[in-house]
Amino acid sequence: MTPDEVKKLKEDLLEEKKTLEAELNRIATKNPSVEDDYQAHFHKSEPGDTLDEQAHSITDYEEDRAVEQNFELRLHEINDTLRKIDEGTYGTCEKCLSPIDQKRLKVVPVAKFCFDCAKKATLA
Ligand SMILES: [Zn+2]
Repeated sequence: MTPDEVKKLKEDLLEEKKTLEAELNRIATKNPSVEDDYQAHFHKSEPGDTLDEQAHSITDYEEDRAVEQNFELRLHEINDTLRKIDEGTYGTCEKCLSPIDQKRLKVVPVAKFCFDCAKKATLA
């Protein structure tokens, strides 16, 4: 990857990070003691709520939690990748330390492992 491509990737990731954090702040509360950890808001049911409304609150909460967890995972991937770009280790397989195939990085910019290691990991 050329320095320009890395710079572009970093900008894209920072942009996505902003969007993710905004979404997370909407549906969840940041955990002050753990970095990049969020907790989905619980939709409290009111005393006058019907059973149906209560069930609805729980479903909403579960949906938010699922979304929140996906966003959080993505945020972690982005932060990891940004850290690696800053450290100059971006594009290196975390397992075998060989360079990750450029084509693979184009498809999965946040890839941590080379194709072989990723394949072994899914088979394991
Ligand atoms: Zn590898």
